[in-house]
Amino acid sequence: MIVGVPVRKVVRLGHPVLRAPARHLTPKEINAPEVQRLIEEMAASMIEYEGVGIAANQVGEGISLFLMGLHEGSERHKEGIPLTVVFNPEIKFIGKDTELDYEGCLSVPGMRGQVERALKLELSGLDHRGKAFTKLYEDFPARVVQHETDHLNGLVYLDRMKGLKTLSYVD
Ligand code: ZN
Repeated sequence: MIVGVPVRKVVRLGHPVLRAPARHLTPKEINAPEVQRLIEEMAASMIEYEGVGIAANQVGEGISLFLMGLHEGSERHKEGIPLTVVFNPEIKFIGKDTELDYEGCLSVPGMRGQVERALKLELSGLDHRGKAFTKLYEDFPARVVQHETDHLNGLVYLDRMKGLKTLSYVD
């Protein structure tokens, strides 16, 4: 937990906010106190629920924003992912290489399934202060970027599965 920052309730599959395309924000809107507070609350929520990423619509806000982060030495990805805040994400795939691996989602708790994702991409967006950036992602972090950007377009990983045969309970 982060002291003094409330954890937001994560909405689950079936809530219409997960199926609606999210609204892009301007740099001025990003710097508004309520949006800066939302970033903190999403960070607190991601940590509380042990997610690697969280999209704003997962806490009921229809704006184009996601966070990701993972501590170093994690089983899921040894190098970890620095805490990253992305508004208005745009993905440009690099190459044609893909990888099939398991994904889970805080909005579909307790389950996981295999999804084919691009291995390498370029992510463009605005940072936590509304400054434009472009960054290269590969492997697991690239998978997280694709999963979270999908959320902001109203998609969940189940939509990306080729079939439901690998859908399973985590425990
Ligand atoms: Zn998700």
